[in-house]
Amino acid sequence: MPILKAENVSFSYDKKINAVENFSFSVEKGEYVAVLGRNGSGKSTLAKLFNALLIPDKGKITVGEFSSDDKKSLFEIRKRVGVVFQNPDNQLIASIVEDDIAFGPENVGVPRKEIGERIEFALKAVGMEEFRRSSPERLSGGQKQRIAIAGVLALTPEILILDESTAMLDPAGRKEVLKVVEKLNEEQGVTVIAITHYMEEALFADRVIVLDGGKLAKEGRPEEIFSDRENAVKLGLELPFAARIADELIKRGVKIKSGILTKEELAEELCGSK
Ligand code: ADP
Ligand code: MG
Repeated sequence: MPILKAENVSFSYDKKINAVENFSFSVEKGEYVAVLGRNGSGKSTLAKLFNALLIPDKGKITVGEFSSDDKKSLFEIRKRVGVVFQNPDNQLIASIVEDDIAFGPENVGVPRKEIGERIEFALKAVGMEEFRRSSPERLSGGQKQRIAIAGVLALTPEILILDESTAMLDPAGRKEVLKVVEKLNEEQGVTVIAITHYMEEALFADRVIVLDGGKLAKEGRPEEIFSDRENAVKLGLELPFAARIADELIKRGVKIKSGILTKEELAEELCGSK
């Protein structure tokens, strides 16, 4: 049984243009799904539909046994699907890290003693134990985003959605956050839906979906998405860096295989295995 399922979902903000249109998709437990698509293609709207911040105009979202067309289920869906947004500064509210992480569980009435345990678990999961008493203001972008993730983890979600959560970070911060998310996915079995503009981030997903004008334009493994270079570009995607270099080399007559995606593949093709 899929952990999350969208069936013919449409949603419009203005009741004229659909931000998401007739969208159907399902995610299995433990999957890592990347969501790509140009600006305005409906990615953030989809994230908010997935965690019942928005309710579909048509169709339905099901999370486990809870469905968005039953009002009584909305709270259960929100509890199971946690979203981390782009700007860490808008997500941290308390002046001390551990208070910030406690905020969510307190709000949903988790008992005191258990809140302590959840803070422990969440800080450990993002590797920020030693910063529990720090002020979020003094942390780097990557560290702040790891605390934002910890805040969501303290609500023990089954699905973690990252809505361009690395977009405002420098390369080191981005790497930090990705490592944490990868580990949560691999070791704790957290289902991850990562919305991103960085194609390199999409390469380690189990599956990629591409939105275009609110519609599901393409779905497949990363190599399937990027093997049709022309279509990928048409959908507003930038090819991974190594792929662009490989294509450029081929254009200039260098004899390497087509469809290269990663820097490792490119290096191997040029120099043989290590
Ligand atoms: P993405 O995250 O892929 O950039 P969004 O889901 O934010 O796309 O936006 C999809 C469409 O919905 C766009 O046309 C956008 O202008 C519109 N939209 C997004 N948020 C709102 C809002 N709060 N009110 C009205 N229209 C919105
Ligand atoms: Mg967005």
